[in-house]
This record gives sequence, C-alpha cells and structure tokens, in this order.
Amino acid sequence: MNVFSHPEFDNHEQVCFFTDPKTGLKAIVAIHNSSRGPALGGCRMFPYASDEEALRDVLRLSRGMTYKSALANLDLGGGKSVIIGDPRQHKTEALMEAMGRCLEQLGGRYIAAEDSGTSVVDLQIMGRHTTQVAGTSEHPGFDGRPSNGDPSPVTAYGVFVGLKAAVRHKLGRNDLAGLTVAVQGIGNVGYRLARHLHEAGAKLWVYDIHQDQMDRAVQEFGATPVSADDILTLPVDVVAPCALGAVLNDTSIPKLQAKVVAGAANNQLERPDHDALLMQHGILYAPDFVLNAGGIIDVFHSRTDYEPDRVRAHVDSIDATLSEIFTRSDRDGRPTGVIANELAEERFKPAATPQDSTLAQVS
Ligand code: NAD
Repeated sequence: MNVFSHPEFDNHEQVCFFTDPKTGLKAIVAIHNSSRGPALGGCRMFPYASDEEALRDVLRLSRGMTYKSALANLDLGGGKSVIIGDPRQHKTEALMEAMGRCLEQLGGRYIAAEDSGTSVVDLQIMGRHTTQVAGTSEHPGFDGRPSNGDPSPVTAYGVFVGLKAAVRHKLGRNDLAGLTVAVQGIGNVGYRLARHLHEAGAKLWVYDIHQDQMDRAVQEFGATPVSADDILTLPVDVVAPCALGAVLNDTSIPKLQAKVVAGAANNQLERPDHDALLMQHGILYAPDFVLNAGGIIDVFHSRTDYEPDRVRAHVDSIDATLSEIFTRSDRDGRPTGVIANELAEERFKPAATPQDSTLAQVS
C-alpha cells in the first residue's frame, strides 16, 4: 500500500496507523494541514473492504476538512480518522477506549468528532482517555433549544442560508414564497432544511429511500413525494441533494432542469470538473463544503464558550462567502467549485508547516 505516492496524498502533514490487538482496533488518522489550528474532523467507522480503501477515504476526507474550515474562517486545520470495522458488529466499549488512547498520543494535533458509524456516546467513551474529542456535551443550541451535541440543526440552517444566497444570485429574488425545491434525502439535515423552506413559503418535492421519512415531510410540510428517478430532474427552481455524494455526474447533469443546486450532501460532484459541466448548462452550483459548514462551526464553538448569537452570526457568514465565490465565478467565467478551492487556499498555508512541528511525517 503506497502512502506518499497515493493518488489522494496531498502533502498531508501526518498519517498515523494505530492497532490494538486486544480490542481489534485498526485505525488511521490523517492530518492534512494544521496551519490554521489543530485538525478537527469526524471519526468514521466503516467496514472498508481493504486497508487501501480506508487510507483513500481518510486522505480525501482530511483534505476536505482543511478546505471546509478555512472557508468557514475557523481557526482549525483539516483532519479525519477512520476505524476499520462494521459499527454494528465490531464496535465495543473497549475498542472506543483504545481509540481514545490513540488520539491522546497525538497531543492535541487532531480532535475527533462524530461521523458516520460513530455517535456522541462513542466520543464520550473515547473521552475517558483523551480531551481531544468534540461535540460530546450538552449546551444551549444556536436556536435557543438545548443541544445534545448533534450538529445537524446548525448544518441545516447553514444550508438554508446558502440556498437563499444562491437563489438571490441566480434568480434575483430574496423572497422564497412560491420557490420550488426538490429535496433528495429527508434525514437529519434534509428534514430540517425542508422545514426552513416550508416556513419561508417554498413548495417542496421530496424523495427518500425510507418511506416514513418521506411521509413526515408530506404530512408536515405539504411536500409532494416523487420517485428516485425523478427527484433530481424535476422542473423546479432548486435541487437540494441531502443524501449521497456523486449525484452530480455525466448522466444526471444534462437532465437537470433546476437553475440552482444547493444541498447538504458531501462530495456531490462525482468528479471535480463536474462543476464546469453544471456551469455549461447554466446551473449555479453552491459548493457543498461551503454550504454544509454549519456542523463544523457548531462543533468549533462547542469547544469554547458557546454563545448562540455568535454561532448564528458565524453560520450567517456562509452567505457572504458564497456571494464572493459567485461574484468571482461570474467575473472570471470559471466554475464555482474551482473558485471555492482557490479561496480556501488563500486562507491556509501550504503543507509541511505544521504549527508545532517542522517536519511532515508518516508514523
Ligand atoms: P442522515 O443519514 O440523517 O440522512 C440521509 C437521508 O438520506 C436518510 O434519510 C436516508 O434514508 C436518505 N437516503 C439514503 N440514500 C438515499 C438515496 N439514494 N436517495 C434518497 N435518499 C437517500 O444524514 P444527514 O446527517 O442528514 O446528512 C446528509 C448529508 O449531509 C450527508 O451527505 C452528510 O455527509 C452531509 N453532512 C451532514 C452534516 C450534519 O451535521 N449532519 C454536516 C455536513 C455534511
């Protein structure tokens, strides 16, 4: 398995492989860039088919966190961790404790948060052996309601803010009354986004692989249920992918009728250059990692003094960041994804300049 010559290796500062035979722990932590601060990112547990697949995921995801945090103006670097194993079969308290001990060895250079396959409780168990976990304590939520650490409500609000910015830019309207929106995936974020849109007067079309999730949106928001095949290609103003990655691709883009794509799902573009194809089709793409930064903003503030008004103002700044990306994209005639990456790169220093080390390393 190659690391330095891996296609996803992007001068990551540090890549650590951890094992604990007693508990069966096999984990990789990747710190992509820490020039803005300690690397914060989710700890994912997944039954990867191979070590290579796990390495690929952690390299790619940690890099994405550097860009997301830089664009959200957070004093954080980009990192991610993966535990190889099926969370339904292999997750034990002892394994999570072992992971906590591994994180502690990194001395604060990486902070773990929840991700697919890990929960607030898992992070709390890791936290018995390290302080380097985030999103584990209850605090007042950004909307005044108590929060158990789940960042989804803040993520959904940030997506709503970003969607409005995209609609204003592309369709020239501030008022969402009568705006037509197709939401793919009515989970933690999609459901809450749908509620914001409904309250603002938008008309909704929804699809989720789980019928009960869809039924909830139909009953509560008067949404129209549609099929898997139709959700992305309806004649609506906005498509909001809130389920899976890679939904914007060579097959789907030519069929889109919406003028705006703005949703929560990570890695919506199957290939980076699909933002150019969207642009060719006259569709404004709001880059996902700008739009869905509410979660990391929430986790960041939960590690300091959580002041709901400050958190809300921070999430509201997604509007200004997107507006700058859209303006530069129009001015230069270049796709929004490319511009977003460039804007992020202006905000962090190149690799191999970690804060508390002078060498990039693989350990
Ligand atoms: P979730 O698991 O709660 O919701 C996802 C929903 O999508 C589920 O209801 C699921 O049934 C549905 N789904 C799965 N496959 C589908 C398909 N093929 N078609 C339609 N629906 C399908 O997850 P979430 O927390 O709401 O996150 C949604 C997306 O946003 C993910 O891509 C996630 O990585 C991203 N995201 C989430 C957060 C957060 O704070 N939760 C932060 C940043 C990014």
